[in-house]
Amino acid sequence: MKRKMIIKNKKEQSIIAKARIEILYHLTLESLKNKDIELAKNSVALIQKISRKNRISLKKYRWFFCKKCFFPYSAESISISTDAQTRTLNILCKKCGHIRRKILKK
Ligand SMILES: [Zn+2]
Repeated sequence: MKRKMIIKNKKEQSIIAKARIEILYHLTLESLKNKDIELAKNSVALIQKISRKNRISLKKYRWFFCKKCFFPYSAESISISTDAQTRTLNILCKKCGHIRRKILKK
């Protein structure tokens, strides 16, 4: 279904984009639950696209998917370990091998 939306102004556009991200986020969680990985991955890619296009920060969802392969994080797709030396939490994406580090608070 393709429907052209008439957008009045930038503010409205950003509200719509945010709502779409919210919906897609829930869709991703739902598809993960149903083990529909492809749909989940597509949703995440769409979230990225919308956020970039509308310059919306994904701060809220920053730790929700892999930055490299867009694969949503789930118990099966990641491995978490802590590094005492660097004092970081290492999150390894099992799909692409990308490691993200989160600095642990003292
Ligand atoms: Zn990845």
